[in-house]
Amino acid sequence: MIDAGLDAVIVTPGANMRYLTGFSEAGYERLFCLIAPLDREPLFVAPSVNVDQARRNPAGIADVREWNDAAGWHGLVEALAGELELTGGQVGVDDDMAARFVLPLQNILADGFLRSAGTVLSDLRSRKDRAELDALQRAASLTDRAYLAGRAACRAGASERDVAAAIEAAIVREGGALSFETIVAAGENSALPHHSPGGRKLAEGDVVTLDLGARVDGYCGDITRIVAIGQPGEDAARVYEIVLRAHRAALSLVRPGVAAEAVDAAARKVIEEAGYGDRFIHRTGHGIGLDDHEQPNIVAGNEHLLRPGECFSIEPGIYLPGRFGIRLENIVAVTESGVRVVNAPIPERIDVAG
Ligand code: ZN
Ligand code: ZN
Repeated sequence: MIDAGLDAVIVTPGANMRYLTGFSEAGYERLFCLIAPLDREPLFVAPSVNVDQARRNPAGIADVREWNDAAGWHGLVEALAGELELTGGQVGVDDDMAARFVLPLQNILADGFLRSAGTVLSDLRSRKDRAELDALQRAASLTDRAYLAGRAACRAGASERDVAAAIEAAIVREGGALSFETIVAAGENSALPHHSPGGRKLAEGDVVTLDLGARVDGYCGDITRIVAIGQPGEDAARVYEIVLRAHRAALSLVRPGVAAEAVDAAARKVIEEAGYGDRFIHRTGHGIGLDDHEQPNIVAGNEHLLRPGECFSIEPGIYLPGRFGIRLENIVAVTESGVRVVNAPIPERIDVAG
């Protein structure tokens, strides 16, 4: 906060509040926030209906200021801005804060300014400690097991939705939640990176993309695997081999001090040299933790130097519209001296179902 020139940071419910306080209730239309001033103890502003939950926050923050529906929150926050000497100051807000809070807050600060606290918060969250890495590993292992359930459900005649249901049941059965909506994309649908599973039935000769993630203790898993129904065509086998080489080229570069953009470039180079540069239509990876997408992004132009404890996906892909697509994704953690892959190894060849 000192480096960013912020007098306070205000955070609404979500991954940032969970990270800072352990409080993990969902947010809604009533203002519920953590105010963390630079030189004073942090405090909660809570509507009456959430005051008891706020008092039980795992971080033990004792100061909880209550407002009720009849009075509204504006008066309370205005008084607090005076008490905490924030009017006229620079206040950072969570990137996920809703406009219905941001706009009145800006008015309350008068000649002060609201700014994004996104970088301050993501910088804290991107380096995982031991307990976080353990949770991320449990999420990764459950995600790997759920993939096996998904693969087992891949057979001619099953629909994309059937396979997604098998994956999600396997996650829930072991006490996990979903990191994101499961992607199952068969045949030509696999050329759409974010296809939603529908009634399309799997058929002989299809390649099927499974992109899935289990969430355990708040932390997310995320892998992508390719399954073939019967023997895959030669083209699919060849493109798979290129994407796997791109994945490994990126992985081989990961260690502390390497720029995120260099990891992206390593994967992209393999795909460009194979003639598919214009068919690799997204970044190579994204950070992962309490959110399924967070910092650091593994993308061209990101000069951020990787640090121990940072966790992200490596997921190059090639998408051939109307035909098929191949993406191969694992999560990695930067260690003191190199990298640790938290998922099972990606198969050398397309996994044939049945
Ligand atoms: Zn991903
Ligand atoms: Zn994914």
